Amino acid sequence: MVKSREVLPQPESKFINTQCPDCGSEQIIFDRASTVVKCNVCGKTLVKPTGGKAVIMIKKSKQQILG
Ligand SMILES: [Zn+2]
Repeated sequence: MVKSREVLPQPESKFINTQCPDCGSEQIIFDRASTVVKCNVCGKTLVKPTGGKAVIMIKKSKQQILG
């Protein structure tokens, strides 16, 4: 017998407005980034992928959820 399983709704990915801790440049990044995201001004790594949710390498107080 096969039980019908409820499919959990997938949370939608979000774009996050980040601020580079080094140069202060603001950048919109994808919170499920699958590649390293670097600051487009100074090259500092802002996001590292970990196989699932991306790790955002900035202070949380700098994050602003856009959607
Ligand atoms: Zn920077």
